[in-house]
Amino acid sequence: MAVEESVLKRVENLRAEIIEHRKLYYLNDSPLISDADYDDLVLELKGLEESYPELKQSSILDEVGYLSNATFSPVTHLVPMLSLDNVFNEGELKLWIQRSQKLASRNPSFTCELKIDGLALSVAYQNSKLIRAATRGNGTVGEDVTANVLTIKSIPKLIEGKLADLDYVEIRGEVYMKRTDFNRLNDERKAQNLSEFANPRNAAAGSLRQKDASVTANRPLSFFAYQVVATEELPEKEHFEMLKLLSVGGFDVETHFNKTDDVNRVVGTVRELGVIRETLDYDTDGVVIKVNEYDLIQSMGATSHAPRWAIAFKFPPEERQTILKGIEVSVGKTGRITPFAVLEPIRVGGSVVTYASLHNFGQVAVKDLRVNDTVVIKKAGDVIPEVIKPVVGKRAEESARWIPPTNCPSCGNRLIKLEDMADTYCINSGCPEQLLQRIINFTSKPAMDIEGLSEQRIKLLRDGKLIKNVADIYDLSFEQVLTLPGFAEKSAKNLLDAIDESKSRSLDKVIVALTIQHVGPVAARLVAHKFKSLEKLKDVDKETLVLIQGLGPVTADSIHKFFQSESNLSTIDRLLAHNIGTYSDLAEPNPVSTESLKLTDKIYVVTGTLDRYSRSQAEELIRSLGGKATGTVSKKTTAVIAGNSPGSNKIEAAEKLNIPIMSERDFENLIESD
Ligand code: NAD
Repeated sequence: MAVEESVLKRVENLRAEIIEHRKLYYLNDSPLISDADYDDLVLELKGLEESYPELKQSSILDEVGYLSNATFSPVTHLVPMLSLDNVFNEGELKLWIQRSQKLASRNPSFTCELKIDGLALSVAYQNSKLIRAATRGNGTVGEDVTANVLTIKSIPKLIEGKLADLDYVEIRGEVYMKRTDFNRLNDERKAQNLSEFANPRNAAAGSLRQKDASVTANRPLSFFAYQVVATEELPEKEHFEMLKLLSVGGFDVETHFNKTDDVNRVVGTVRELGVIRETLDYDTDGVVIKVNEYDLIQSMGATSHAPRWAIAFKFPPEERQTILKGIEVSVGKTGRITPFAVLEPIRVGGSVVTYASLHNFGQVAVKDLRVNDTVVIKKAGDVIPEVIKPVVGKRAEESARWIPPTNCPSCGNRLIKLEDMADTYCINSGCPEQLLQRIINFTSKPAMDIEGLSEQRIKLLRDGKLIKNVADIYDLSFEQVLTLPGFAEKSAKNLLDAIDESKSRSLDKVIVALTIQHVGPVAARLVAHKFKSLEKLKDVDKETLVLIQGLGPVTADSIHKFFQSESNLSTIDRLLAHNIGTYSDLAEPNPVSTESLKLTDKIYVVTGTLDRYSRSQAEELIRSLGGKATGTVSKKTTAVIAGNSPGSNKIEAAEKLNIPIMSERDFENLIESD
């Protein structure tokens, strides 16, 4: 059967695209797309070639790297420098292990090593002296970069130990740039008005592949060795032992390697290394799992592209590119207006992302995100999708800056930007969307926890004009609920029982349910402990609130304002009529006393612009929770809270001292968690 025209066209396009990206990546050291996006193109082509074997001849997927250019003399490798096949999840890894167990003549053991994100280098030694160094090139022929490599301090000019006994040996490994060195280099380039490198891998590749070795000499390059190739028998029978020998020979070897013959241990190690990598000063993009015994390696051999005895487990992508289809705004329960990105769905870190918060109008302007832009997406803390930046090089000429709305999309009221706050608000307390969001918050698990009152059902009740206000929930009758679509006698009774049961929620939960700005579970508990009942709280004066240890003046002010509003007071009276908020289950002594305040003894440094708070508000919040906020990073600092454009000195100091760097969201999660 002839291959459809559309498939032929796609294969042709994919090949052209892959070749172009390889050229940009290997030759120009300036890729236009992320590695994960590149891997997706390769996977798609692989899939099509498997479905249509007639298209497979002369596939570019069998090629390694990119042909070397004219800048460097060619060097033919003693043994080809191949690529690695990839697996992207534990299931695929287990299958690969089973396959290699079958392929090997006896049960192999495996080594696991971190996959360093740099570029491969082969350094040749004759009679223990460095004679030549070459990049991988197209796998068979590499580029002679000897003069440049002689300037890299961590590559010995003379090898020692048993390695020195070999007549001719090629030591292979990865040239990379440490993150701290990369940041410093980019800072220097910025100061000199030179273009900055996009990431440490590009910086390493661009620095090594220089015509003038004196340029390389001024770039902070490092090297990890991971393979030995020789003309005679190797002094060790196992790769694991050879890694140790490389260390003795004078090379840096990445320290987190281990050996096992247990499949589960391999998988466990891959998981552990996935955590460890976060703490390292260099980028890693996976784990390389290799058969350990050299005689088995020999018999298993290689394809034209990759060895059969090794596999790269690729860590999930951290950054992906997709199209920003639109920018819309949502109205929150406190009236806060949040712009969000509507994206061409894209898989990031194991799940499909379609929407991402853009936080506030200022953020959209600073990042200059435009509808139809190609944008870079990341999962912040591997959970929350974040739009990092537009890819300006891919922007259409006719694109225009995004103009934020001036009026609320729900009620049409003019939007207000409060002084000293990054956010914009709709301050119409009757705004329908705000009311809906407040009811959703009221019924949610951390608040009144009314089982069965889902967002969808709340909308039904609202559309049926049965609830306009949270207090209306308690006036619902059986007959009214029964009139709604999807309700039968049993479900109506269950819902009313759940509503009734929620009346006994403790005061702190009721306070969370009321939607008071800046008041999350922590502040609610402080207030509940002080007042014990909603009846007492509603008459509160500001002075009493300010004196509550751990609350802070901004939150105190917000609570006070809430209880000044006539409409809020009338809602509260209706709740009180149902005996809601009459009991506090917080045991004595004060559960949030000074000793147990969330941030007691903790020291934080806030740097950069935060989305939700001014810096002084964030510092006040830290102090109100028992912590200290200082301006200098030291050994005693608990964490640095970094907003947008953080001070590079503070970040560098934190990295040097191994002090955690938290995003604003991490910080919010910390203070809001119970
Ligand atoms: P690879 O980088 O995925 O794997 C092979 C390489 O891993 C080896 O050559 C070696 O340099 C390196 N490596 C690091 N640590 C190692 C260790 N401990 N043991 C053995 N090897 C180790 O394969 P590749 O063929 O070099 O490149 C393909 C990859 O490069 C793609 O999957 C993609 O991530 C990236 N790429 C990206 C673009 C782009 O446009 N973004 C273009 C081309 C390639």
